[in-house]
Amino acid sequence: MRCARCGSRQIAIKRPRTDRILCKDCFCTEFEEDVHLGIVENHVFTPGDLVAVGVSGGKDSTVLLHVLHTLNARHQYGIQLHLLSADEGISGYRDNSLETVYANARTYELPLTVVAYKELFGWTMNEIHQAIGKKNNCTYCGVLRRKALDVGAQRINATKLAMGHNADDYAETVLMNVCRGDIGRMERCTDMTTGGPESGTVTRVKPLKYVYQKEVVMYAHFKKLLYFSTPCTYAEEAYRGYARTFLNRLHAVLPSAVADIIHAGERLQLADQIKREQPKQRKCQRCGYITSQALCQACALLEGLNTTRSTDVAAAPPAAVPEEVVRPPPPQTSETPDPQSPGDIESTPALRS
Ligand SMILES: [Zn+2]
Ligand SMILES: [Zn+2]
Repeated sequence: MRCARCGSRQIAIKRPRTDRILCKDCFCTEFEEDVHLGIVENHVFTPGDLVAVGVSGGKDSTVLLHVLHTLNARHQYGIQLHLLSADEGISGYRDNSLETVYANARTYELPLTVVAYKELFGWTMNEIHQAIGKKNNCTYCGVLRRKALDVGAQRINATKLAMGHNADDYAETVLMNVCRGDIGRMERCTDMTTGGPESGTVTRVKPLKYVYQKEVVMYAHFKKLLYFSTPCTYAEEAYRGYARTFLNRLHAVLPSAVADIIHAGERLQLADQIKREQPKQRKCQRCGYITSQALCQACALLEGLNTTRSTDVAAAPPAAVPEEVVRPPPPQTSETPDPQSPGDIESTPALRS
């Protein structure tokens, strides 16, 4: 067998979507060009953009950083990159993965900004874990990370916030929205670009939309990228885990399943009447973030936590805290146009390696 591009006998990978057999170098070139094509076709960047790259130290965001750095030089996007990382305050996990982020900032000679949950919200994930126990940690962490990265991107005056979601993440999100019947999120959950000034947030872009998880892993491996691969201490992600398992089994019998599901999501359009029935967007009473409820998800979760804390101060045992105080609010249909549910890949960089 020979590489379909250059004829080399040193074949390294069969690409999951196309079944093309390639050598290492040709695979890396095709991978980069696929990302480039997606960026161009979706008008992801404008010359002069200051792009905050959301980095966790995990492999998806590390690959994103490397590819954007490479493509910006090769195709002259005219963008500036700035690393942005959230410090959730998870001892033994985030402090270690942040080391990787610092190392990459030095390697690529790029500025790095770290935003800490403790500073922004008054809570670390360690403290939240203590307050709420084992369940829902990824929900809290995901909602707060989303907001932390938004705040961080605004602080550095970024015009775009780039995230490392890949094709598998998109397909999982489509499946999850279908299973939840979450119509409000269904229509836009396959967009490569979401948010923006009109919704009061920095525009989010996900340039790895068309590359598969397996390819991201192989690219990181072939390029010898430095990433952190220990699963998050608090990760459980039950719901996304089921979607992931299902998708993996489907992929075994139908290699195009991931691409097909994304394609189905892209084609989905809501009827005008259904659109009119969706909750109206407004601003969070507390922080001004876009939401369909009185409080945005982050403020609602923090309010529950702070109630727990004041209950603790009143010397009530933790078991006496009513469950509804610490339970996350029901999904807010149209608050987050992002395809990722809370607790997305950035929190669990190694779960699918
Ligand atoms: Zn080749
Ligand atoms: Zn809020």
